[in-house]
Amino acid sequence: MIVAEQKPLAEIKSMVAPYSRIVIMGCGTCVKTCFAGGEDEVATLASALRLAFGKEGRDIKVDELTVERQCEDEFIHPAAPQVVKNQAVLSLACGAGVQMIASRFPKIPVLPGVNTTFIGVLEKAGLFAEKCLGCGNCILDDFAGVCPISRCSKKLLNGPCGGSQDGKCEVSPEIECAWQLIIDRCRAFGQLDKLKTYVPPKDWRPSYAGGPRKLLREDHVI
Ligand code: SF4
Ligand code: SF4
Repeated sequence: MIVAEQKPLAEIKSMVAPYSRIVIMGCGTCVKTCFAGGEDEVATLASALRLAFGKEGRDIKVDELTVERQCEDEFIHPAAPQVVKNQAVLSLACGAGVQMIASRFPKIPVLPGVNTTFIGVLEKAGLFAEKCLGCGNCILDDFAGVCPISRCSKKLLNGPCGGSQDGKCEVSPEIECAWQLIIDRCRAFGQLDKLKTYVPPKDWRPSYAGGPRKLLREDHVI
C-alpha cells in the first residue's frame, strides 16, 4: 500500500485559512488503512478545524466527503456536486489522488492534507515499513525476495557492506540489515552460491529517474 501521514494540524490550518468553505476529501483505500485519510480521519480533522477556527471567532464551513479511491475518476465523479459547492478541497489522499482531484477540478484549489511517504506494508499493529521504491524493473528474484534498493540503507546490489551488527544496519539499530536477510533467505533455500555472481549497476531508466512514467495496457483500452 501507499503509506502516508497526516500533516500537522497547524500546517493544515494555515493552508485552509484563506477559505471560508472547504471540503475535506478522504480516500477509502491506502490512506484509510494507514489511518491518515479515511472517513474517520476526515471526521476528526473536520472537528479539529472547526474548533480551531471557532476559537479565533472564524466561521469556516467544513464539509466531509470520502470516496473509495481518489486516483480513479470513476470514484471522483459522483463527488463533483459536493466539491463544486466549496472554495477549496483539502485532500487526504496520497499525492496521486491530490493531483487527480486537481486535474478533475481545474477551477478549485486542491490542498494536500497528508505527506505521502512510501510504498510499504503493515508490519504489526500501528507499524508500517517501507518495502519498495517503485523502481520500474523488479529484481527481487535475484535477492531472495528482499529488496536491497528500498531496504538496504546504501542500496547495495553487491552487499553486504560489512557494517551490520547482530543483523541490524550500521546506519541505525532500528533497521534490519537487508543483506543479512538476503543471505539468511538464500541459505535457507540452498542458493547462497547465487550471491557470488556480480550484479551489474541497475538501469534506472524505468525508474522515476527517467522522468514521469506511464503504463499502457492496450488490452484494457476502450
Ligand atoms: S526491486 Fe524495484 S520494484 Fe522490486 S521491490 Fe525493489 S524497488 Fe520495488
Ligand atoms: S548494514 Fe546492511 S542494510 Fe545497512 S548499509 Fe550495510 S548492507 Fe545495507
